[in-house]
Amino acid sequence: MVMKQHFLLSAKARTLSLAKVMRLSDEEAHETFKQIRWAENGGEPVCPRCGSVTVYEYRARRIFKCKDCQSQFSVTTGTIFASRKLAIRDLLAAIAIFVNGAKGISALQLSRDLDCQYKTAFVLLHKLREALGAEMKTRTLNGHVEIDGAYFGGYVKPENVKSERKDLRLKEHQTGKRRAVVIMRERKGRSLPFVFPNEGDAVPTIRERVEIGTTVYADEASVWDGLHARYPTKRVNHSINFVDEDACTNQAESYFSRLRRAEIGTHHHISGPYLNAYANEMAWREDNRRKPNGTLYALAASAALTHAVSRNWKGYWQRAIIAGT
Ligand SMILES: [Zn+2]
Repeated sequence: MVMKQHFLLSAKARTLSLAKVMRLSDEEAHETFKQIRWAENGGEPVCPRCGSVTVYEYRARRIFKCKDCQSQFSVTTGTIFASRKLAIRDLLAAIAIFVNGAKGISALQLSRDLDCQYKTAFVLLHKLREALGAEMKTRTLNGHVEIDGAYFGGYVKPENVKSERKDLRLKEHQTGKRRAVVIMRERKGRSLPFVFPNEGDAVPTIRERVEIGTTVYADEASVWDGLHARYPTKRVNHSINFVDEDACTNQAESYFSRLRRAEIGTHHHISGPYLNAYANEMAWREDNRRKPNGTLYALAASAALTHAVSRNWKGYWQRAIIAGT
């Protein structure tokens, strides 16, 4: 049996850009979607209900029928794009626009770019974030891991941004809407962000997600003192000018500066319920920042098209309307 090349490793996938996506015909867009979604099966359809690969394709209607369980499905059935409001090409374009925005992309901007409703863009972007965050759910870290926390959400006075991290550790500066994002980040590796009421609340989660034997790097905040019992821990003293190069949290700082730029430059304020989604998105962007654009596109598209129907976001606006009445 001849193995077809995995689409996401092909030159075609690596060079997919927004311009190229927008020039795809309907047929080509549909074919591209198939290639990404069913990459593991050489781009050939797999029944989302029973897993059978014995599938008929009604090409004119772009509908598939499973020979084993008789169910009919489309290329988006069982993915986060099920019950979509957008054309296939627009979904592919949305992924390209999302990937291109280093600081993230606002729903308003995407709705303008795709000429679609704000609500459609809003839900689509959150589905993408959910898909990218999915692989972090079971992730553990090891090696050399930097840990740091910073506060996000609520209103941020831009001029206070530089000095705010230290200040916000003081209780009197906290409002109910602000939450601590705590990042665990491997040097030259992967990241794992979590959201807590206060940064010290992160310690039990760190114990779960950072493997024994890891060297941990953290700043002088006393909330991290509890880590010493479990890990070799190096502390950074921000209050002195001399910084031991080894004992630094530069990777964590880099992550926070990206999340901060997204908060100020793109989303203006990030409200509590969505902070986790943005924190995951920016971790994904940081971890993949050196990869070429086409590779990022392939990664994001693959994550989105192979992620199951979103429990959080399917029918989101319908539920919101019902809850509001
Ligand atoms: Zn089936």
